[in-house]
Amino acid sequence: MSLQNCDRCGKIFNYNPIENAGNEKICPECAIEEKKDLKKVTEYLRKYPLANIMEVHEATGVSQAMLFRFIKSGSLKMRKPVEEFKCRICGKSIQKGTLCAECKSKIEKGFDAEKLKNKKMKKTDII
Ligand SMILES: [Zn+2]
Ligand SMILES: [Zn+2]
Repeated sequence: MSLQNCDRCGKIFNYNPIENAGNEKICPECAIEEKKDLKKVTEYLRKYPLANIMEVHEATGVSQAMLFRFIKSGSLKMRKPVEEFKCRICGKSIQKGTLCAECKSKIEKGFDAEKLKNKKMKKTDII
């Protein structure tokens, strides 16, 4: 037995490496919650087998991170390939949204330059 922080709620609990071997380090309460979440998700997927992560998340309220964890651990099988977020410009994997931070900032700068051009401002006007 060792004291561990729960991966899900951060609470300290008694982690039993033998009993929980191979499992995620989550506390008993969260383990129950996860089972409930998984049940919701499996029931939804039984009705809508072709739903994607986003739809499942919206319909069940289970977070996408959690859904990815279920899939990774093998407790959830989805028919559609897992859709990861990718930057629409450079294709880099991102946490959320449609653009990575770099491309986003480039575009934002670009927009500003566009705006200035449209207004026909001179450099001196900005300073
Ligand atoms: Zn917990
Ligand atoms: Zn990018």
